[in-house]
Amino acid sequence: MTQLVWFRNDLRLADNPALTAACQRGEPVRALFIVTPGQWRQHDWSPAKVQLLLGLLGDVGRQLAGLGIPLEVIKCDDFAASVRALEDHCHQHGIRQLRFNEEYGINERRRDRSVRDVLRKSDIDVCKYRDQTVAPVGSIRTGQDEPYSVFTPFSRRWRQWVEETSPTILPVPKPVGASVEWSPYTATAQDLGFGTPPPALAKPDEQSAHDQLDQFLDERCGDYKAERDFPAVDGTSKLSPYLAVGTLSGRQCLLAAREAQGQGGNQEGFSTWVNEIAWRDFYIHILYHYPRVSMHKAFKPETEALHWNPTGEHFEAWKEGRTGIPLVDAAMRQLRETGWMHNRLRMVTAMFLTKNLFIDWRQGEAWFMQNLVDGFLASNNGGWQWSASTGTDAAPYFRVFNPVTQSERFDPKGDFIRRWVPELKDLDAKRIHNPGAGGVIPKGYPRPIVDLKESRKEAIARFQSIKKAE
Ligand code: FAD
Repeated sequence: MTQLVWFRNDLRLADNPALTAACQRGEPVRALFIVTPGQWRQHDWSPAKVQLLLGLLGDVGRQLAGLGIPLEVIKCDDFAASVRALEDHCHQHGIRQLRFNEEYGINERRRDRSVRDVLRKSDIDVCKYRDQTVAPVGSIRTGQDEPYSVFTPFSRRWRQWVEETSPTILPVPKPVGASVEWSPYTATAQDLGFGTPPPALAKPDEQSAHDQLDQFLDERCGDYKAERDFPAVDGTSKLSPYLAVGTLSGRQCLLAAREAQGQGGNQEGFSTWVNEIAWRDFYIHILYHYPRVSMHKAFKPETEALHWNPTGEHFEAWKEGRTGIPLVDAAMRQLRETGWMHNRLRMVTAMFLTKNLFIDWRQGEAWFMQNLVDGFLASNNGGWQWSASTGTDAAPYFRVFNPVTQSERFDPKGDFIRRWVPELKDLDAKRIHNPGAGGVIPKGYPRPIVDLKESRKEAIARFQSIKKAE
C-alpha cells in the first residue's frame, strides 16, 4: 500500500509528524507539493516568500530522495484546482493513505475538507496531524473550557502545559528504501508571475535554519531581553522566514532554547525568547478558534463600525517610506528592500498607519504580506489587529505610540535611520528623529504628512464615538 505525504507549510524532514507516521509503516512512501501561484497571490504572498519556498522545495526533495521517497511537484492555479490534482495523483500512483499536517487559515481548512470528502469516495484514508504549534491547537483552554483571547493567561497555561507534557521532537525518519532520482523543480518566483524578490535573507535549506538557530542561542539569546527592541542592533534571531514556511517547528525552537538555557547564560534572555514562541502559538490558536480573523474581520466585532480614511497619497507615502517621520520611513524602506522588518518597527509603522493616518489595518496587513519574506497569516493578522486596537489583547485604543519618542528611545543614536534614510545621514543624534523641529529639513526629505498630536486626538475620538454608540 503506497502512502502519500502532502507537504504544505512544513518544509522539513525533522520533527515532521505526517512524514514520520508515513515512514513508520514499512510501506512505500511518496511525497507531493502543490505549487498554487494564483492562491498565493490571493493570499498576498511576497516574491521573497515564494522564492524562499521554491528554494526549500529543492532541499526537501533532495533529502527525501536520499530516504527513498520521490517528491513530485505539481503546479496548478489555486486550492480548488489542487483538490482535483491531488485526487488524480492519488489514482495515478495507487495511493491508499494520504497524510498531511494541518493548516488553519480558512481557505486551507475548506480545501482540506474538500480533499477529505473527495478521497473518501475512493476509499483513500486521510490522516492529519497537529504540527504547527508547540501546544496543539485546542489544548490550551481556560478553566471554563473556553479558548483564551488574552495572551498573558494563555502564556501561563502554555508554560504549564509545556512543563506537564514535556514535548519532544521527532528525528529525521530512516530511509524507507534505496535512494531515488530527484529532478529539482526549477521555476523561480518570477516564472510564477511574482515580482523580483530582494536578495535572499535566509539560505534555502533545512540545515542552515538549524545552524542559525544554534548560533543565535549560543551567541545572542542571552542578551535578547536587553537588545531585542533596538533595530540598529542584531538582537533577534531572524528565524521568522523559516518558521513561516515550516522549515523549523516551534517545538524545535523551544527545545533547543531550553537546552541552551540549561547550560547557563542569562536566563532572562532565554525566557523572553521562549515567550515569543508562545506569542506565535497564541496567534495560531486564535486563527483556529476564531476563523473570522482570516476572513478580513476584526477580532472585536464592534470595531467594524470605525470609519477609516480612504487610502490615497498618505497610504502611498507610508508604503514608500516618505511620510516625513524618520523612523517610520526607515522601517518601511527596510521592508521594501529586504523583505523583513524589526518587530518594534512593525508595531510603530502599524500604529502610525492605523492611528495617525487612520487607514484601515487590512490595507497595512496586505502590504506587509506582499513584502515580508516571513509573511505568516496568524502572526501578521495578530500583530496588525493588536496595533489597530481591533484584536485580542489589543493595545488600548488610547495608547498610541508616538513614533518620534519611539525613535529617541529605540534608535537613540539614529544609526538605524541613517542606514535607511540617507537624506538624513548628516543630522546629529538629537535632530535626526524629528528633523523639522527647530531646523531646516534636509533637501529631498519630506515634511511630516500628518500632525502627530492632532491625529492621535482624532483617532482616540473616533474610537470613543464607537464606544458611545455601543
Ligand atoms: P525573534 O524576536 O527572534 O522571535 C522568534 C520567533 O518568535 C519569531 O521568528 C516568530 O516566529 C515568533 N514571534 C516573535 N514575535 C512574535 C509576535 N509578536 N507574534 C507572533 N510571533 C512572534 N511575524 C511573522 O512571523 N510573520 C508576520 O507576517 C508577522 N507580521 C507582523 C506584523 C505586525 C504588525 C507585528 C506587530 C508583528 C508581526 N510579526 C510577524 C511578529 C514579529 O514581528 C516577527 O515574528 C519578528 O519580528 C520576526 O523576527 P525574528 O525572527 O528575529 O524574531
